[in-house]
Amino acid sequence: MNLSRYTNQAFIQQHQLAPLADLQIIHQVKSTHQLDDVLTLFNQVCSKGFDMRTITGLVTAYSGHQFGTFNPALGDGRVLNLDVNSVGLCAFQLKGSGQTPFSYGNDGRLALRSAVKEYLTNIALAGLGIPTIESLALAFSSERLQQQQLQHSSLLLRTAQTFTRIGHFEFLYASSSTEDKQHDLGVLITDCLAASATDLGLNKTLDTLAVKEQAQMLLNNVVEKTAYLAAKWQSAAFCHGTLNSDNMSIAGLTLDSATGEFMSTFDPSMTPNAIDQQGRYAFENQPRQCLFNLHVLAQCLTLFLSPTQQQHSLKQFYQSYYQHYSMLMLAKLGLNDFIPADRQLLSELLQCLYDNKLDYNLFFQWLSQVDSLQLLNKNNRIQATDIHQHTLANTDQLIHWLRRYQMRIEQGEISTCQRHQLMMKSNPNFVLTKPILNMAIEHVEHADFTALSCLINKLSHPFLTT
Ligand code: AMP
Ligand code: MG
Repeated sequence: MNLSRYTNQAFIQQHQLAPLADLQIIHQVKSTHQLDDVLTLFNQVCSKGFDMRTITGLVTAYSGHQFGTFNPALGDGRVLNLDVNSVGLCAFQLKGSGQTPFSYGNDGRLALRSAVKEYLTNIALAGLGIPTIESLALAFSSERLQQQQLQHSSLLLRTAQTFTRIGHFEFLYASSSTEDKQHDLGVLITDCLAASATDLGLNKTLDTLAVKEQAQMLLNNVVEKTAYLAAKWQSAAFCHGTLNSDNMSIAGLTLDSATGEFMSTFDPSMTPNAIDQQGRYAFENQPRQCLFNLHVLAQCLTLFLSPTQQQHSLKQFYQSYYQHYSMLMLAKLGLNDFIPADRQLLSELLQCLYDNKLDYNLFFQWLSQVDSLQLLNKNNRIQATDIHQHTLANTDQLIHWLRRYQMRIEQGEISTCQRHQLMMKSNPNFVLTKPILNMAIEHVEHADFTALSCLINKLSHPFLTT
């Protein structure tokens, strides 16, 4: 985003980084040509005696629908958008960067626990091939949070193609004058498309498109990318936990993942968010909530798109979602050719996992490691029982499903070797479960960073290679 192109001063401003005492780096990714400048800057910021106020960047205000209710003034996400010369079209942010004109009285700081959660969750998501903003570096300060005195303040460096949220569109739509709204939303649309120009093949032609065409292109693109994101979350059993529209990325990336969690025992009603008592953002509701947020975005584009144009775009969501989801789930089963009966095979599997309280990822690991023709022995008993330590609630149901699965495999076109390879790259061998995450947070809180690199390495390479 370029400050001078926007007219609404309440939306975007230049701001200095607020000082934070005694920063100590906990972890940073390996530098690459593209990341050299930004990691050097982060190291400078964390060095003794450095005047952090010399670092300036852009801050932006956003609104959002929280639990279905519109909140016009959510703040700035306590982030500073850095202006770093780098190779390629990447945006960089410091999260926990302090107060700004858009903090509305909040301190703009980031609690260490939450920072470690986001840092590791982003890495785990990226390792699994789930679109996400990416963690680059994390530091903690000797300063404690005003609100929670036990918690250290921290600073998180992250990168993305763009950090624009649906909430940014909502802010401009709700709080600008009609003239400013038309202008600034047009600029934001162009900025978002520019960030995806290479993916969309738009490098040379973006300027030649009228803003209405750009708006249609943007909405179509966000719908498709969000459908893919939702399919990836559901197939990996990841629950974001807070799918407010301000936490939805315009680039279809997982954003603000600190409330998220990978499911262990399969339960569609699972939610990691303790305040979500109604289960609005529960695992099974994620695709529906994504679509709700896309409706919110479409509403913000009414100056450019007719209701028919919006509907046309939004209608693609479920079609695309189911297509992606089916193929991702089939790959987990070692299949690559979808037939209509697979829908039932998948739904029966999920029912079986739920009824038997099976661990989602352990089950798929077991399935990928056991020869599929050996899943049941001659007496129709489950061959390897180490998929679970507890007694199955309904063994017959699982045996029935495994028999159907074996028959389906025999009908399939894929060779045994290809199936095995497909399953090995579709079913992670290592997942950031809640106990692993909590242990990592505890270690960091005790300033013990020794195990962190090993954990990060495992999260970055969660699949067994054959
Ligand atoms: P996240 O989605 O990770 O940015 O977290 C959102 C939560 O962070 C909000 O519910 C607030 O509790 C807190 N928060 C948001 N803005 C600020 C701020 N400027 N200062 C401190 N805390 C904030
Ligand atoms: Mg957020």
